[in-house]
Amino acid sequence: MSKVPNSFETLDAAVNDVKAAQVLGGFAVRRSRSVQNKQGTAVRRVDLTCSRGGKLRPSRSTGQRQKSTMNCGCRWAASVTLNVATGRWFVTEKDHEHNHPGAKENTSIPALRRDAYKKKADDILQCLESLAASTTLTSRQMATHVADNFGVSMSEHDIRNQLQKLRVDRLGPYTSTQIFVDALQDFQDDVSFAQIHRNEDTGKIDAVFWTYNWCVEMLRKFGHLLVFDCTYRVNCFDMPLLQITTSTNLGTNVALGFCLVSHEDTETFTWALNQLQSLLERENIPVPGVIISDFDKAFKHAATDVFPTARQQLCLWHIIKNVILHVKKKWNGTLDGTRLMASDGAGSLLPGQRDQGLCLC
Ligand SMILES: [Zn+2]
Repeated sequence: MSKVPNSFETLDAAVNDVKAAQVLGGFAVRRSRSVQNKQGTAVRRVDLTCSRGGKLRPSRSTGQRQKSTMNCGCRWAASVTLNVATGRWFVTEKDHEHNHPGAKENTSIPALRRDAYKKKADDILQCLESLAASTTLTSRQMATHVADNFGVSMSEHDIRNQLQKLRVDRLGPYTSTQIFVDALQDFQDDVSFAQIHRNEDTGKIDAVFWTYNWCVEMLRKFGHLLVFDCTYRVNCFDMPLLQITTSTNLGTNVALGFCLVSHEDTETFTWALNQLQSLLERENIPVPGVIISDFDKAFKHAATDVFPTARQQLCLWHIIKNVILHVKKKWNGTLDGTRLMASDGAGSLLPGQRDQGLCLC
């Protein structure tokens, strides 16, 4: 790159000019140092280096976390200095040569990605917000969408960071759980029953139980048998969702109640089942005759405590999973084509198949 003899009115104008010139060659520039005047009242010089200028340090990590660096010890450097007499800023390049080729596309250098993003940040954020609200696109798909529509390259990591920022902006000082609880109260017409539990030490919400009017109607009709199962990583609260479901006379599954839990211990499950019992009492619905679960010990103890008269059974899907697990440990061949018979011999399930008739009852 040729020397830049121009003088500039402001520091930012000078730095931006250098950055723009370097970007043409596929290089990114960063401010490495600011030097103040003797009185310490204003900046009189800013040093610029190549974004790949840092040295590679030997890793001291345990190797569990993969870190990568693009640093290659490039010595390209320039300074932007204030001429006190004229009040203008001058650019001086100290080392003209980069020790690496410029990026072919301005996408592989994070600093260039950030610069490109900043120019269209407002539009991109707006787009990401509407995508996150109205679609189930993954971070990778969103990155492709942004590249196609804005010509800006963003990594999946960039997308996740921006979505997190949006979430913080939107929620302000509230946690997502608090917002959710507020929403439950706002929709009182649909929500039939909602209870929260707070951690005694921290005061934070650590469990939420709720159900809807139509679920209570189903509970009244089909509440003699209840299936309890936790699902994981399906919500933004970082809490497992304990779902209460059952089968109708048509063989379809219906949801009866929901509980976000922060722990899967007997105490938490007991609280959840107590909420269910309160609901049953309020609605004058008999306690369940059969409870089906994955036989998690903590849940089993809680269920025995709260509903002592209910028979507890293991979910057929979990039985088959266990059978396959144990067979695989001892069987050297393939299980392709094997069919597992249900205990009553009425039907059969392929290994691993999550059948509609999920549970023994
Ligand atoms: Zn360089």
